[in-house]
Amino acid sequence: MEKEKIKQAAEMIIKAEYPVVLTGAGISAESGVPTFRGKSGLWKKYDPEAAVSIAGFRRDPEPFWDFAQDLLLENDIQPNPGHIALAELEKLGIIKKIITQNIDFLHQRAGSEEVLELHGTLNRATCLNCKKKYDWKDLVPVIEAGNIPECDNCQSNKIKPDIVFFGERLPQDALKQAWQAAERSDLMIVIGTSLAVYPVASLPSVTKENGGELIYLNVDSGQQDYLFDLIIKGKAGEILPEILKMID
Ligand code: NAD
Ligand code: ZN
Repeated sequence: MEKEKIKQAAEMIIKAEYPVVLTGAGISAESGVPTFRGKSGLWKKYDPEAAVSIAGFRRDPEPFWDFAQDLLLENDIQPNPGHIALAELEKLGIIKKIITQNIDFLHQRAGSEEVLELHGTLNRATCLNCKKKYDWKDLVPVIEAGNIPECDNCQSNKIKPDIVFFGERLPQDALKQAWQAAERSDLMIVIGTSLAVYPVASLPSVTKENGGELIYLNVDSGQQDYLFDLIIKGKAGEILPEILKMID
């Protein structure tokens, strides 16, 4: 059953002129990064308002750093076969853009270059007080020791990763480019996202309204299944390498 669908997906991808990919937390689940929603999602444990709202962070950055430790530091995270298959499809000249809601930098680490990060990246951080820039890897030892990073220029404890917190605007340039890619695309492959967070969740319908086709790859049902031409139930890290094998 899924075999037939994998073949169908490969055919749709080969036929398309401008295939783009939209990813969410699910593609990184097999790398050990927990998702937000779902049975073992992080929102069962943390209050999003306290942990990742800009107002909360300005009040007290500690809940955010507790949360960040759980999100990325518990595991030595690496790109999984799903990220790698997508990077390979880009190298083959097939996939033109990856639009991601993820902040974990795993697409780039797998070798993808055309990545639009709509929710920012954890790879860099900025002091909210003096605007000094930091690399994530410089903050890691401080966080691992259980401390809150402090700015060595102005001593503020409000060094904020360049990710979009609740209450902040999405990076407008990346968002504009994502919209243009979705309009231009004749095939969007939507992977590991529940399509619950707007405006990103509107992107598949942008492609659809412009006459494009849609594939959904997820372990579970999503919120807009009625939109999709093909739905594959399965793990991104298992299905994507299978699709690549049929194309390569
Ligand atoms: P989500 O947590 O709402 O949904 C994750 C989706 O992935 C679910 O639909 C789930 O069924 C599916 N899934 C789980 N494991 C999978 C697998 N192995 N293969 C395929 N699908 C799988 O995530 P979202 O839709 O990305 O939205 C949540 C928000 O949280 C985003 O804004 C994102 O910025 C942020 N977030 C990012 C990360 C990350 O960077 N890795 C992790 C958690 C949350
Ligand atoms: Zn500073």
